[in-house]
Amino acid sequence: MQVLSVASEIYPLIKTGGLADVAGALPLALKPHGAATKTLLPGYPAVMSKIKDGVVRLSFADLFGSRADVLEVRHEGLDLLVLDAPVHFDRPGGPYVDSSGKDYPDNWRRFAALSLAAAEIAAGNMEGWRPDLVHLHDWQTGLVPAYMRYSGAPEPPSLLTIHNIAFQGRFEADVFPYLGLPPQAFDLDGIEYFGGIGFLKAGLQMSSAINTVSPSYAEEILTPEYGMGLEGLLQFRSADLTGIVNGIDAALWNPETDPKLKRNYAAATLKHRGENRKAVLDRFGLAEDGGPLFCVISRLTWQKGMDLLAEVLDELVALGARLAVLGSGDRELEEAFHAAAVRHPGRIGIVTGYDEPLSHLMQAGSDAILIPSRFEPCGLTQLYGLRYGCVPVVARTGGLNDTVIDANPAALAARTATGVSFGPVTADSLLRALRRTVRLHNDPKAWTQMQKQGMKSDVSWEGSAGLYADLYSSILSKKGA
Ligand code: ADP
Repeated sequence: MQVLSVASEIYPLIKTGGLADVAGALPLALKPHGAATKTLLPGYPAVMSKIKDGVVRLSFADLFGSRADVLEVRHEGLDLLVLDAPVHFDRPGGPYVDSSGKDYPDNWRRFAALSLAAAEIAAGNMEGWRPDLVHLHDWQTGLVPAYMRYSGAPEPPSLLTIHNIAFQGRFEADVFPYLGLPPQAFDLDGIEYFGGIGFLKAGLQMSSAINTVSPSYAEEILTPEYGMGLEGLLQFRSADLTGIVNGIDAALWNPETDPKLKRNYAAATLKHRGENRKAVLDRFGLAEDGGPLFCVISRLTWQKGMDLLAEVLDELVALGARLAVLGSGDRELEEAFHAAAVRHPGRIGIVTGYDEPLSHLMQAGSDAILIPSRFEPCGLTQLYGLRYGCVPVVARTGGLNDTVIDANPAALAARTATGVSFGPVTADSLLRALRRTVRLHNDPKAWTQMQKQGMKSDVSWEGSAGLYADLYSSILSKKGA
């Protein structure tokens, strides 16, 4: 089976969140299932500087105002199709925002360009290769099914994966004439969305099938609270909607071999985590005194419940715990954590910014990772935590709900517990969970058992890749039927 995957970011070339991890890991995990994937992605500077010897496979004299080439290249086991379109992608700043953190005003054009290039490839216009199926990721690729449909060319079936429904790619109606779509596309059945244009909406409307990154989130987005305006359309398409939990790159995230750790360890040598713990304490300026060391590795945002955590920091310290925070995001939240670090020297430490190596060390040295998200499509940090014996303390929502087994008395007695989960997602409920976690940590036998049970959890891509392979097959057979 030949698959064209289209993504706006892919690890290890460019990453702002979990989407990149999935786009990078799934093609490798699907290989043993007979799916060969080529991934189309934008040629940002970070991508162009890392690829060498790309072969031009398709050219556009004018792709929404830019000359553009599709360069085929292999990189770390991935087959990539890089869309080199300098006007759209060769600029400083991130994939979606400029150096000052503002959305690029022409994001609609940039990702329309990516989507149109994908549709051309899907239609077989790249010589010598034609995909059997197109796998799309998030709003940036939402127009692909629209371009495929309205081109009139034979259309391969498509799967759209929602990584986070909060990001919908909504734009004013006045950009419509520039998208190169026929007038009838601006319709309830097309790309029109609340009077404007919705990239994700278009994809949900027109793709052959839809999935999201956990079964719980697939249920949640059918409700107004989580569907964020798209619940009606999703209910309409619910027969084509499924949920598959993400895996992690088990080679990259392996405490036995991870070169980013001070000391490697396994479930049988958990005491070696102590050296990593010491390194984390040093890095964050924290003192050792036997209480649990909590960590946060996260965007500092409302979605991630970081305001709730900020509310209970004094109580957390009073419980005898310490906290190391790695993250960046809302200025107010960053300031709240900085202020708490000043109030509680040696107890709370914060490193602002994005630091991949430090995130590995923190998973290997902290006792627990706090993830009080208000919604969480899948979440990856709890999966890393499970694998590293860093006990996840999570809100009972989305993928967090599907991957962590709460340490309730029955689960503890059955030795199946892998973490602590709580709900509703409020500061009070989080504080109760922190108290419960500290009590568990005071019982080293129960705690070690929970760490070991977590380390046994299957968080690799193997199981989920099998589910994706089955989903691909069912989409193809439906299309053929
Ligand atoms: P989301 O994609 O919503 O941000 P996920 O949990 O799905 O959340 O994925 C976040 C990814 O980004 C994880 O791989 C996590 O380790 C990483 N990450 C988040 N913040 C940081 C940071 N400040 N430094 C390093 N890695 C981070």
